[in-house]
Amino acid sequence: MKILLVAPSSGYWKGIAKKRFFNGKTFRFSMLPLLTLAGLTPKEHEVTIVDEQIDALPVKKKFDLVAITAMTALAPRAYDIAHFFRLSGIPVVMGGFHATLNPEDALKHVDSIVIGPAYGAWRQLLEDLQAGSLKRMYYGKTGNGCIPVKLPREMLQAGKYVSVNATFATLGCSNGCLFCSVNKFYGMKRHERRVDEVISEIGSFKEKFFIFIDDNLVQDRIYATKLFTALVPLKKKWTAQVSIDISDDEELLDLMGKAGCIGVFIGLETFSEQALMSQDKNMKSPAYYRDSIKKIHKRGIFIESGIILGFDSDDRKVFKNTLRMLHKTAVDLIQLSILTPLPGTGLYSEMKCRITDHDLEHYDFRHAVFDPKLMTAEELQDGADWVIRQFYSPHRIIGRIFRWLFMKHGIVNLVYPAALSLAYLGRVIRFNINGSDPDIKKVTSYGRMKNRNTGFDYA
Ligand code: SF4
Repeated sequence: MKILLVAPSSGYWKGIAKKRFFNGKTFRFSMLPLLTLAGLTPKEHEVTIVDEQIDALPVKKKFDLVAITAMTALAPRAYDIAHFFRLSGIPVVMGGFHATLNPEDALKHVDSIVIGPAYGAWRQLLEDLQAGSLKRMYYGKTGNGCIPVKLPREMLQAGKYVSVNATFATLGCSNGCLFCSVNKFYGMKRHERRVDEVISEIGSFKEKFFIFIDDNLVQDRIYATKLFTALVPLKKKWTAQVSIDISDDEELLDLMGKAGCIGVFIGLETFSEQALMSQDKNMKSPAYYRDSIKKIHKRGIFIESGIILGFDSDDRKVFKNTLRMLHKTAVDLIQLSILTPLPGTGLYSEMKCRITDHDLEHYDFRHAVFDPKLMTAEELQDGADWVIRQFYSPHRIIGRIFRWLFMKHGIVNLVYPAALSLAYLGRVIRFNINGSDPDIKKVTSYGRMKNRNTGFDYA
């Protein structure tokens, strides 16, 4: 069979890789789900991977199966693609977060869906298709043996990604944060790959730098200790996503530094304890963020923090306060989102009657799709833009670079936050993100922007 695997893209992002400047490369690294499917596909089939940020859809080629993975904001584009191929009689299967959390919605547009990670279901799906008995739903599994040891990374155009060497050691998260779709996707379960398997894969990377895409690499201390110990001799540099409670474990932090970690993404989310509690995210009180970050910095590890604005306890003062706290706690980089009740999450059920915008393309964490409690939706959007613009203003970036130089962690480690800061500044300029602090300038008119350039990742 000829199989097409598609990572859809829409709006400005479609074909962005062709642009000379700001082409999204710094933020583009993970095609892991599609690469994994390609790795699991028996050799008798021919696989084509299309990342719409880079390639156009091969509309003139004939395929026997099209498989699409999509987050909620990309579901409309995924459905357009599905309709196109289905018109020619080609069966379309959809997986990923949106289809898993909203199976009924997805099944209106495609022939079949895969719930959860597709690993354990993919080969069965192909066999069923060949036998003419494709089912409407498949349930993925994550056990050992479901995930191929070697991924066909050569299928990606390496120069178009900051690194094609993204991998994972663990899948899923056992916490139950209300706004999060990860726990729903993996059914609150975690899966850990065998450490020797992960190490052998990382050892095969020619480049020194790679990325762990795990949702929380350090959730299981015993596993993390084994993994980091085995990583030390490889002398690689890597980044990962972890939780802030890692700072309580200085021994593990030391080991993580020795193992080559140069940067972590941590979802601090907010500096309001009340907001954290409202989402059942009770890892650490924001009162301890400053000390925690200091301990992480001590190991030469930089911190990109996920920050969310728009919680029910957030009023118009939250923007200035957030900016002040980001500076005070010495966060190096931020990925700022507007609180988004993704369909299928606990937050969506809780906020359902306050949702004002049902256009799925706007569920990209950059649009206020609901009525906030203590401000207007326009103020929330304006204030969020203002925080981004301020945080990535050139004088603040320069100030942080001086801070990093004083930390004396070597030039290699410094490249990571400096390059990401410049990439974020590029986005701010490209997308003309300005905003204003609603606490100073009361927003009188704004108007919901239907085709607003979102400028930030969907993840
Ligand atoms: S937000 Fe982070 S800690 Fe909470 S459930 Fe999601 S992945 Fe786990």
